[in-house]
Amino acid sequence: MSSDCIFCKIANKELNTEFIYEDDKVVAFNDLSPQAPVHFLVIPKKHYSSMNDITSKEAFGDIFSAIPKIAEKLGIKEYRTVVNTGVSAGQTVFHIHVHVMSGREFTWPAG
Ligand code: AMP
Ligand code: ZN
Repeated sequence: MSSDCIFCKIANKELNTEFIYEDDKVVAFNDLSPQAPVHFLVIPKKHYSSMNDITSKEAFGDIFSAIPKIAEKLGIKEYRTVVNTGVSAGQTVFHIHVHVMSGREFTWPAG
């Protein structure tokens, strides 16, 4: 828990953010500023500033294995997943999160 981290506060239920998924290791919630008709974030309950702070396979597994379960629950089969690592990559919240977006066409490469 990092006391000034907004995503730690969300995971800790200190804010009234509605979860679309929760298990013992991760939570998922809709992005405040959706970039697609479906846009949610999956975060570990434990604080890691970025992907670079994750050293265990288990942590990656906990985060990524939740995604197909949530997709099935939401009835989406095709989606874009994005993890921004570092400022130049577009990271603005320094608690690792996976963006999952669906419901429109996506271009490649991402801008
Ligand atoms: P990134 O730029 O990859 O670090 O993504 C951070 C994302 O968090 C952005 O898409 C924001 O819209 C989203 N975000 C920031 N604060 C909140 C919040 N309180 N609830 C939901 N999403 C948030
Ligand atoms: Zn945090």
